[in-house]
Amino acid sequence: MVIKLSEADNLEAYRQKRDFSKTSEHPGSAAANSKGSPRFSIQKHRSKRLHYDLRLEVGGVLRSWAVPKGPSLDTREKRLAIPTEDHPIEYIDFEGTIPEGEYGAGTVIVWDIGTYENTTRADGKEVRIAEALERGHATFILSGEKLRGGYALTRTGRGKDERWILVKMKDEFAKAGEDVLEGKPNSALTGRSLAEVEEEGRAA
Ligand code: MN
Repeated sequence: MVIKLSEADNLEAYRQKRDFSKTSEHPGSAAANSKGSPRFSIQKHRSKRLHYDLRLEVGGVLRSWAVPKGPSLDTREKRLAIPTEDHPIEYIDFEGTIPEGEYGAGTVIVWDIGTYENTTRADGKEVRIAEALERGHATFILSGEKLRGGYALTRTGRGKDERWILVKMKDEFAKAGEDVLEGKPNSALTGRSLAEVEEEGRAA
């Protein structure tokens, strides 16, 4: 497979961490936005620790955050989101096993996937998503299989201490006390559990 690498993309950090002769993760092709609404996914990833990776399609890459406790439907829950390197668009539906010894070794399922609508405003004006993230506060409406409605991402620290907080916004999709992670644990794409994908990885 010949992969045309775009020099303009921001995937150097992503590629440097990975050996594509060993992992089945995608090296990423030339940056291209999908047509229509931008997409998002949340990957459930069991590596050293179980966590959830939030990915938003922005400017031809997937801006990414590791959310240790995962998203919530409860507006009172502030979920820590640690920024990670931009991922290629092709990563959005990656499900599988990352081999032992490789970066992020473990198992990944697509816990949720869909589109989002940026709703960020400042001083009464719409703010583009890239600029909103640059400024450190973005709001968006998710249309996923499991997550729906408004969420806010807010930066709380800069530099090496850069951290974000992910919060469900108040709307008809907010549900206090409901644990969607426990209630709907499996892949939104294939219905498989992490354990099943792990098992298939071992058999392969
Ligand atoms: Mn991860």
